Formats: sequence, structure tokens, C-alpha cells
Amino acid sequence: MQPVLKDHVTLLDASSNAAKLFCSHRRKVFTYEIDEAGKRAIESANGKLDLAGILTSVGVPRLSIEEVNAFFEKLIEDGLFHDAALDSKIEFEPNYKTRLERQLIYLSGLAPQGQRGHDLQAKLRESRVLIIGAGGGGSHLAVQLAGIGIGRLILVDHDLVELGNLGRQIFYANYIGKLKVEALKEIVRSISPETQVATRPERLMRSAPWLGEYLPKVDLVLNCADQPSMDETTRWLFEACYPLKLPLIPGGGYNGHFTSLPPTLLPGRSTCWPCYEHDAARKRAVRIETLNLSQIKSGIFLPATIAMAALQMPEIVRVLTGYEPPRFLNCRGEFDLNTCSLELETVAPTPGCGTCEGTA
Ligand SMILES: [Zn+2]
Repeated sequence: MQPVLKDHVTLLDASSNAAKLFCSHRRKVFTYEIDEAGKRAIESANGKLDLAGILTSVGVPRLSIEEVNAFFEKLIEDGLFHDAALDSKIEFEPNYKTRLERQLIYLSGLAPQGQRGHDLQAKLRESRVLIIGAGGGGSHLAVQLAGIGIGRLILVDHDLVELGNLGRQIFYANYIGKLKVEALKEIVRSISPETQVATRPERLMRSAPWLGEYLPKVDLVLNCADQPSMDETTRWLFEACYPLKLPLIPGGGYNGHFTSLPPTLLPGRSTCWPCYEHDAARKRAVRIETLNLSQIKSGIFLPATIAMAALQMPEIVRVLTGYEPPRFLNCRGEFDLNTCSLELETVAPTPGCGTCEGTA
């Protein structure tokens, strides 16, 4: 074992009777009773010394190897220290690492026991995400995914950038008339040159033959295509993703200061999309359904589109890295920017549904 403080933990004080460590992720100070040997041990644990090396640096008074092992096992169990001997040998490109320096600290606070922020980042670096629709939802998600250092994006959209898009989508005036996927590729690459980007200027249709080319090569599908409607395109994509056990997250909707947060669809682990549609029809969930009907001319406020993507991003990171189970497995939500309130609605798998069958 080569113990070292986790990146998001600060040693506030180590006297000969107590060590105080602040965990920024939990906003909590942890206090441990220690003696002079414990103080020296904690100060010398730099991730390079093993337990024997720490014992040597402790000097007199000495600890036994069992005592020092038990001491650091406890600190690791509490999520404050990490065993650097278990670190993967992954090295990121220097610019990538510098750009994501603060995110690595954040991720180290999320990493389960035995992993570091680097391990979660490595999963993001290797992840491949297919985004269908590069408008209000897709453009913001693509930019945020570039910002967190995603490995590969495949962007699908047949539309051109128009002047009327600039008020709610991430495009600039010099892109007007250009394919949205090509404009977005330039923006993504200018944020994250390490992110590979493929583009496909297509409109999503049911059983689109080109889907079969991409689905087996990605880890997650984000559906941001709202023509003819978000519900319908999600139905088509669920049919294609389900046999491949491929995670699918539909785009949200936005209407004025409301944003709807979609469920995460994990085949075999979540309520299926047809059950969400049946549930919505049964409850006549007018407000949420209205948000998803793109045909309705509704007021759109740029912050609502940004908030929607921002609220979806932690779920996307959960699905891609697995640091904890997805939050929206059997529920969907609605966020109100005016009141800053979030309403969640649980939709359990329907008894007797052949698709949901076996879902935990
Ligand atoms: Zn079902």
C-alpha cells in the first residue's frame, strides 16, 4: 500500500493528539485521535512511500506494520486517502490534463473506493457518444461533453445553421448557412482538440439504415431529435437500442422557464420507453407532454436550454463512468427556472410488460 490524500481532501492540522482533514466534496471536517507517530505517518504518506517506507520516516516512536496498515485502511475506508499502488498507469496528453485539472479534483471526490479521479476521467476519455439532433439540446450537450473531455462524438443532423437558431443554440453568426454538425464539430474541436468527432448530415427516420453502422460502436445514445416529435424519435431509437442493450437518454424539452428532464433508458435496468408513453397517456400529463411537442410555438429562453443540458450532464457521467447508479432510471422530472424547483415523477416498470420484464 502507498497511501496518499485524495485530491479533494486537505490536511488542515496534524498535532500530536488529533488530525483534522477537510473533505470538500462532503463539506465535512474529519477528526482522528492520533499520537506523535500517527502525526508523522500521516505527514509522510505521499503516495510514493509504501508502509515500510512510512515506518522508516516515522522513526521513534515507532508503529508496527499492522498498526500503520490499520490506520491507513481506516482513512481509505472513510474516503479521505487513496492507495496509489492501485493507480492505473493512464497518462493523459499534457494539454488535456492541464485543461481538466480542476475537474480531476472534482472527480476524485466522486470516485468509489479504490479509484481516483483519473480513473473516472479515463472512462470519459474512452467514451463514445452518439448525439442525434444538433439543435437546442444537442448543441449544448456536445459543447459540455467536449468541455469534460469526452473521447469521441458522433453528431447527426441534416439542418443548416440559421439566424433564428442563435438565440438558443450554440452557434455563431459566421456559421449561418453551414451544416450544424460541421459547425458544431469546429466548436467541439476548438474546445477539446483530443475529442474525435464524426459527422453525419442525416435526418432521423424510423429504421434508418445508417443507425446500424453507429450503434454497435458507441457507449451511449443521446436523442435530441424533435422531428416529428421527441416522443416518436425516442420510440424509434429505443427499438434500435434495446436489442443491443445500449443506454439511451432522450433529450429534454423546454418551454419558457420550464425544462423537462427525461428518463434514462437502460435495457433490463429501467422502465422501458413504451411504458413511459403509456403512463403519460394514462395520467394525461399535459404539462410534460406539451413540452415535448415541438409543433407548438412556445417561448424559448436560452437559459432553459443551457439548464436542461447542465442537469442532464451528471446523469450522462453516471452512465458512462458508473461511479454510482443513474438517477433517472425510473423517473423523469421538470425543473422550473423561476422557482428553482425540481419535481420528479416516478414511473415504475409496468407489471406484465414484456420489455420491462426482469427489470430490478
Ligand atoms: Zn415496459
